[in-house]
Amino acid sequence: MSSIVWFGGRLVQDSSALISILSPTSQYGLNVFEGIRGYYSVDNNDIYIFRLTDHLLRLSESCSLLGLSPAFALTDIKNSIKLCIEANSFAHDISIRCSIYLPEPGSWSSSGPIDYLIAPILKKRSSISELQPVKCCISSWQRLSPNSSPPAAKVGSNYMNSRLAFLDAQSSGFDQPIFLDHLGHVCESSGSCVFIVKNNTLLTAPVSSSILPSITRDTVLTMASALGIPTLVQPLTRTDLYLADEAFLCGSAVEILPIDCIDRFKLKSISRDSLTIKILHHYLLAVSGLFLPSMQWNESCSSL
Ligand code: PMP
Repeated sequence: MSSIVWFGGRLVQDSSALISILSPTSQYGLNVFEGIRGYYSVDNNDIYIFRLTDHLLRLSESCSLLGLSPAFALTDIKNSIKLCIEANSFAHDISIRCSIYLPEPGSWSSSGPIDYLIAPILKKRSSISELQPVKCCISSWQRLSPNSSPPAAKVGSNYMNSRLAFLDAQSSGFDQPIFLDHLGHVCESSGSCVFIVKNNTLLTAPVSSSILPSITRDTVLTMASALGIPTLVQPLTRTDLYLADEAFLCGSAVEILPIDCIDRFKLKSISRDSLTIKILHHYLLAVSGLFLPSMQWNESCSSL
């Protein structure tokens, strides 16, 4: 379905948002981006964008790591997001792709010209009754390391590491890979972070285990602390995963997604009493501004 996007400094149909095939973005994956969720409120007929400022701050850090110095400000991007959502008259949940790219022919070392794209698409929030737990495997591909290409940068080229692991997982009959890092510690999945539940405690890998500093992971840790659920952020081994009671993936796209098994190790089936479901339940409240409103995680489109 076609939509209106912000491209080249104005609103255009997505089919006319075109860049040179010889650009560093096309040739080398030189683009930094964010996938941001907008949740529609029927009551207010408005879209609430979840942790928009945090996503834009991470976008700015990705630029800095990749040596990109855009001339535009984060407030310009916010204004374009507002114009773009209004132009599409969305009355649904959405996902907003925000990419900073180099449209003109150049090399991997080019530094400009730099522009940004805002491209919203319809994407429904998760429904607890329709959850499909995923089968995960430990990938034989290692996660890229901070001394090769920084995992903290959300740059297109990093996703070729994700692609290799994802294709391998799928060809072996799994849904998603889980990477180990260069030290052999549990890292993250191809586009999401990992939590395990053991003895009613939530455990996740530290940022030093080559993960993207995930905004959803931070949301889960903050919510758990408010709910009185103990959390541990520490290096994890694959044995920890195999012996977990429950496990789930988290990220802006997947939200909270239960894991069914890791390699040949089956985890507890999810039920109303699962900690994973409790976290998802509160996550869905949080994205609607109904849990921890003092965190001011939601920015309404009309207020941008
Ligand atoms: N790791 C990777 C590699 C990702 O691409 C994502 C998705 N942005 C995540 C983790 C989860 O990050 P977030 O919660 O900020 O969406």
